[in-house]
Amino acid sequence: MKQMSFLLRNTMVVLVLVTSTIANGQDNKLPNVVILATGGTIAGAAASGAQSGYTSGQVNIDAMVNAIPEVKKIANIKGEQISNVGSQDISFEIMLKLAKRISELAAQKDNTGIVITHGTDTMEETAFFLNLVVKTDKPVVLVGSMRPSTAISADGPLNLYNGIAVAADPQAKGRGVLLVMNDWIQSAQTIVKVSTTSVQTFMSPLKGLIGTTAYGVSEYYKYPTSLYGAKSEFSVDGVTKLPRVDIVYADVDMPADLIDASVNLGAKGIVIAGVGNGNMTAAALEACARASKKGVIIVRSSRVATGNVGRNVEVNDDKLGLIASLDLNPQKSRILLMLALLKPRPLEAIQKLYLEY
Ligand code: ASP
Repeated sequence: MKQMSFLLRNTMVVLVLVTSTIANGQDNKLPNVVILATGGTIAGAAASGAQSGYTSGQVNIDAMVNAIPEVKKIANIKGEQISNVGSQDISFEIMLKLAKRISELAAQKDNTGIVITHGTDTMEETAFFLNLVVKTDKPVVLVGSMRPSTAISADGPLNLYNGIAVAADPQAKGRGVLLVMNDWIQSAQTIVKVSTTSVQTFMSPLKGLIGTTAYGVSEYYKYPTSLYGAKSEFSVDGVTKLPRVDIVYADVDMPADLIDASVNLGAKGIVIAGVGNGNMTAAALEACARASKKGVIIVRSSRVATGNVGRNVEVNDDKLGLIASLDLNPQKSRILLMLALLKPRPLEAIQKLYLEY
């Protein structure tokens, strides 16, 4: 850690958005892992090691890998810089670019696995998206950090080392897109960011961990139960734009006009971050039913941290033409709906997707 901070503090790295290959001395006996860097706090830097203010996406992929020389013993590494932004600025354009590149790399026989370094703010969305559209059983592992590279006890270097170890591990195959942070291996389907600052920010409520890792030595407990990878029906081949889906947050005395506004702005779908079991005021519910009649797909999810949003519990989904998100939170419900809306589907078929994914 100290070595990492020292190195990065003394080499304020200039952002270079070009493909780079990390000089690693190819060892034919080692697995090959490609890192796709997108930015985030893991690539963040501050002027001092003990300050909370910093800028995401300042350090490039070569510097991040050079800070963990131990990795040369576990894998041959190549790196590519896809973007260098805080994940609050990850766009669907970047996500589509990532999906395409991962698919190309995974199809190359020599590559064992792929690591994506990414900010944690929208990690849930990118991970879930990739889980649904990348058709490979090779390990695809997202890694981030909560502390910038220049911080005292930066968590990025060990997270990256562990992520590379998991991507190089044949036991990680076929488990879908994974997140490796703070020694935990979790599924893209289950991860939720639960803390704004803690290094233990990702949890998988109710469903638990895929495995754990300690300095790259991993133990796996299970496979995800949802559909993903080759079993997923979604594809973004040839897709350059995704349909607009908005999230509207429900709260006390919620008015209907934000839902109407979203429809008027051209949303093809709306996810409600409902109160409790996907509930909202009667006025908002009427606006949802109006939107549904116009062909806008409405998904009821919840602003509550855990638990399913069930169909026809307090809301008559059958009558109003609504979808229940089941175990997907609003941000993942939005991703699933955007992919679902790439082709026309009846409401029942869309509801089924929430059961399966
Ligand atoms: N805002 C940062 C990002 O998502 C936070 C982080 O990476 O932890 O890029």
